[in-house]
Amino acid sequence: EQIEILLRDHQELWESIRNAEDGVFHFQVAGEDRYVNIKTSRVQNKQETIGHLITIENVTERESLRQRLTEIANTDELTGLNNRRRFRECAEEAAQRARDGYEDLAVLMMDIDFFKKVNDFYGHHGGDAVLRDFATMLGESFRGSDIVGRIGGEEFAVVISNADAQKAYDKAEDFRKALAEKTILFGEKSISVTVSIGVAVLDETTTNFDALINKADHALYQAKHLGRNRTVIENQNQA
Ligand code: GH3
Ligand code: MG
Ligand code: MG
Repeated sequence: EQIEILLRDHQELWESIRNAEDGVFHFQVAGEDRYVNIKTSRVQNKQETIGHLITIENVTERESLRQRLTEIANTDELTGLNNRRRFRECAEEAAQRARDGYEDLAVLMMDIDFFKKVNDFYGHHGGDAVLRDFATMLGESFRGSDIVGRIGGEEFAVVISNADAQKAYDKAEDFRKALAEKTILFGEKSISVTVSIGVAVLDETTTNFDALINKADHALYQAKHLGRNRTVIENQNQA
């Protein structure tokens, strides 16, 4: 009865307790996250249940720390994008879903052109500013179900669900052109960069995610070889 009053603003939590669903529950108090761990056990007298022993432990600190650690483990510090590990995890799941549902899926591999020169001209901080702005642009251009990640120094990747090679190519080109026209401010200076992009799509030959990534990488290599600042689809003779 008293606990019912205590939890009157948290009906879901109260329902869980009543239904003896054990586990960690999230709720908010004055806009702040709270987590409680609920354990319920029957109190029996011979065969008869005469009550329930409910343990409610405040695990907010532990849970917040766990979430913060997960976030740190998943996030690239400089850009805030998914890091390589997290990108891979999400991308593999998306590829599996696409395979199961016989849906299209495309991967874009990107590498900023002549990035060493950016560092040489503007210093490492200038390079970092470019990487941050690049990442922001990438995040804004590819949103929703797209998965974006920083997978190396100046290498980024995007997984686009429900996209065939042409659609992925068009999206990549939109981004590439927008980047080429943009100037990135670094103190008093403005920096321009271009990017090369390789496109690969899921098919019979890409039975695992690594194979797909390798194909996109190969296309990226061709884009560099053909002169950079361009998008190449793997296995298509694209200029
Ligand atoms: P290419 O057009 O062939 O890609 O030329 P590139 O100069 O971009 O070639 P490369 O991939 O060899 O150079 C990448 C450079 O990126 C080398 C490295 O010093 C720099 N780099 C890697 N990570 C970071 C970073 O976090 N910050 C900065 N500022 N530079 C980085
Ligand atoms: Mg590189
Ligand atoms: Mg590069």
